[in-house]
Amino acid sequence: MEKKYVYMFSEGNAGMRNLLGGKGAGLAEMTGLGLPVPQGFTITTEACTRYYDDGRQIGDDIMEQIKGGIAKMEEITGKKFGDRENPLLVSVRSGARASMPGMMDTILNLGLNEDVVGVLSKKSGNPRWAWDCYRRFIQMFSDVVMEVGKKYFEELIDQMKARKGVTQDIELDADDLHELADEFKAEYREKLGKDFPDDPKEQLVEAIKAVFRSWDNPRANVYRRDNDIPYSWGTAVNVQMMAFGNMGDTSGTGVAFTRDPATGEKRLMGEFLLNAQGEDVVAGIRTPQKIDRLKELMPEVYDQFTGICRTLENHYKDMQDMEFTIEDKHLYMLQTRNGKRTAKAALKIACDLVDEGMIDEKQAVLMIDPRNLDSLLHPQFDPAYLAKADPIATGLPASPGAACGQIVFTAEDAKTWKSRGKKVVLVRLETSPEDIEGMKSAQGIITVRGGMTSHAAVVARGMGTCCVSGVSAIDMDEDNRCFTIDGHTFHEGDWISANGSTGKIYEGVIPTVEAQIVGEFGRIMGWADKYRRMKVRTNADTPADAKRAHELGAEGIGLCRTEHMFFEKDRIEAFREMICSDTVEEREQALAKILPVQQSDFEKLYEALEGAPVTIRFLDPPLHEFVPTEEADIRKLADAKHKTVDEIKSLINSLHEFNPMMGHRGVRLDVTYPEISKMQTLAVIRAAIAVQKRHPDWTVKPEIMIPLVGDNKEFLYVKRIVVKTADEEIAKSGIAMQYEVGTMIEIPRAALTADEIAKDADFFCFGTNDLTQMTYGFSRDDAGKFLQAYYDAKIFENDPFAKLDQNGVGKLMEMAMKLGKDVNPNLHCGICGEHGGDPSSIEFCDRIGLDYVSCSPFRVPIARLSAAQASIRTGEV
Ligand code: PEP
Ligand code: MG
Repeated sequence: MEKKYVYMFSEGNAGMRNLLGGKGAGLAEMTGLGLPVPQGFTITTEACTRYYDDGRQIGDDIMEQIKGGIAKMEEITGKKFGDRENPLLVSVRSGARASMPGMMDTILNLGLNEDVVGVLSKKSGNPRWAWDCYRRFIQMFSDVVMEVGKKYFEELIDQMKARKGVTQDIELDADDLHELADEFKAEYREKLGKDFPDDPKEQLVEAIKAVFRSWDNPRANVYRRDNDIPYSWGTAVNVQMMAFGNMGDTSGTGVAFTRDPATGEKRLMGEFLLNAQGEDVVAGIRTPQKIDRLKELMPEVYDQFTGICRTLENHYKDMQDMEFTIEDKHLYMLQTRNGKRTAKAALKIACDLVDEGMIDEKQAVLMIDPRNLDSLLHPQFDPAYLAKADPIATGLPASPGAACGQIVFTAEDAKTWKSRGKKVVLVRLETSPEDIEGMKSAQGIITVRGGMTSHAAVVARGMGTCCVSGVSAIDMDEDNRCFTIDGHTFHEGDWISANGSTGKIYEGVIPTVEAQIVGEFGRIMGWADKYRRMKVRTNADTPADAKRAHELGAEGIGLCRTEHMFFEKDRIEAFREMICSDTVEEREQALAKILPVQQSDFEKLYEALEGAPVTIRFLDPPLHEFVPTEEADIRKLADAKHKTVDEIKSLINSLHEFNPMMGHRGVRLDVTYPEISKMQTLAVIRAAIAVQKRHPDWTVKPEIMIPLVGDNKEFLYVKRIVVKTADEEIAKSGIAMQYEVGTMIEIPRAALTADEIAKDADFFCFGTNDLTQMTYGFSRDDAGKFLQAYYDAKIFENDPFAKLDQNGVGKLMEMAMKLGKDVNPNLHCGICGEHGGDPSSIEFCDRIGLDYVSCSPFRVPIARLSAAQASIRTGEV
């Protein structure tokens, strides 16, 4: 049987959302409920996909079905395209599976030509209305379908109003609008070199193509990437008989929500315009009236409408966002969908619906978009100010939150300015470990280079500080403490605002409001915890971060990057002494200074987590990241090491690597310097023993993790050192203590040989930052430079460093899990790459059976909710 691409509204239902799009499914469902819906048909999302597959054309078979749809519509409505008695006019609207408000195109009043206008004028006795529809149609068709800018038509309207001495469109009479329609058609002819089409069927085909095309317009592409909507979904097209809100003062059009989308409060919210069509409400030319006013103007219509609102909310069991038109006191429903809402409103609505007995706890958990929670956890810009502000540039939304402060260019300045009570935003080409204190002092961080897993991004997320990375529009002049964007120069001390949730930066001050965690937040999180299978841990390197993460619900530490513990000024010196050692003895001396510092940090981490598991990863980074660059620091190091400045400089030079990410880092450091593994083992085990003794009721079981293993022999080499050192230490302590030694899986070879490694490893933790880097062969610090081209060319829809590449990297993970668990059923597995905080990646982790995800502290609630949603969706709970 021929594939069906066209469905009459009476043939669909809410369950056919993927095929009919949200709007089409809603119209069909409302039709089924017997609500007043102008009838029509939906061309499916599959037709859109075909349109693109067929080289942007509508296939003959689809065309035939559309014609069939028109014929049926004519039959149902009793009207006909171009008819001289009873002409049919339609709207043509997009409608994807997920709502993408304002991203795609709509055409109203299609089917008009001069003859039809004549018929409508006579029949309605309202020529003004008929000509108003026609001029609107020409304008919209020209703009949306033929891409002749709206502005040319608006200029003609303005000129007409000036000639007539009026200010409002509604003050123009039928003759004026007739004249305007003529002028519009002349404009069309001039711009396109052909006449405006009179044939309604030709108009319709062009309009349908335009809606399909609009799926691929730049704003839709950006919206999809931001909202995780795949390009492959396509949009449906809805062809619906027009209901006219512009027939006079007993007509109108409006939008309404069954609950307040900003606060979640249960009350009808909405607005409408009399004598208007949909685009007038959106365009904001006239100020709409509150929905309550309709009660006074047309009480029966108002009562009918509120009844429909109740029906729809009870039916969908969610807050509805509706569009309606009143045509001469007759109400028509043009859309219903689950309304978009703020995070705060989402939580309240979900809890209220549970209390009202409309949904159960699981459904409530599924209703919340985890990504929205972010906005509840960080200070945010005042939406009223933000709406008026124009961004000066856009980078990557590396760490959410709102930052507003005076520009500084060095970490040192950030610290000093802060100590003087100033608020600063640190703007750097890129950050390095030396900048950490400055980063902490800043309200936010902006970097010119770097991606979602750059140093600035990872560290800022860990700290919960706003960060926008990779703002390539910045032309940096660090020497003169200024930068330029589009010819405008910003100096030290100038005010700047950065939105880490959108990646946008703004000139000047945008006020912020404190993030509030409302009562419903805890309730929803409680339900999420009840229904999730996977545990949620955190990536935390400092006791303060660990404590915050624990407060946010982290059930352990999945990754403590021990090198991050040396960012602070007083610590980095001992670390540098260790790096710049020539001999084992020298290195051991430096390590002896580091040992107590690490031990004390680890103790604090164990205490912050109150006995929950803590995975401590051994040193990982390329060492040269830590060497001093400032002359004074080099001299200081030389003095400490009793060496000359030149000797230290030559040592530093010897650490230079051509490919540091694939260089002397991770387990390779332990193989070259076993004394480092020994010191780190001592620190971990001594800390655990001390804490266990202080808290006999806890079971402290350290987890030691070896990074960047590619071969089990590397792992075993280090594991032997760890086991020997740990066992001796535990024996000395006189208490029984168990510990685990595991590895990160972040090199493709480790995934490929996971069965060999799992024989000796107690756990695997997927380091998907490096695993993505090495699987794709993309440098994680440089990918930002070319990813935009990949998006433009539709090679990628998302940054693979932010959203897990399930087909490639994911396949390696799944394989490693299986290989590993087959030989070692006790092996426990987690993820600690950035993907551990990304909802769709978390769902994948649940599917392949990971035991936990680990993410930065502020993402913990997001991960808890995502993990619960994954469990609920698979029906495991
Ligand atoms: C990883 O590679 O995913 C990881 C967690 O380690 P890092 O980001 O420290 O390299
Ligand atoms: Mg790594």
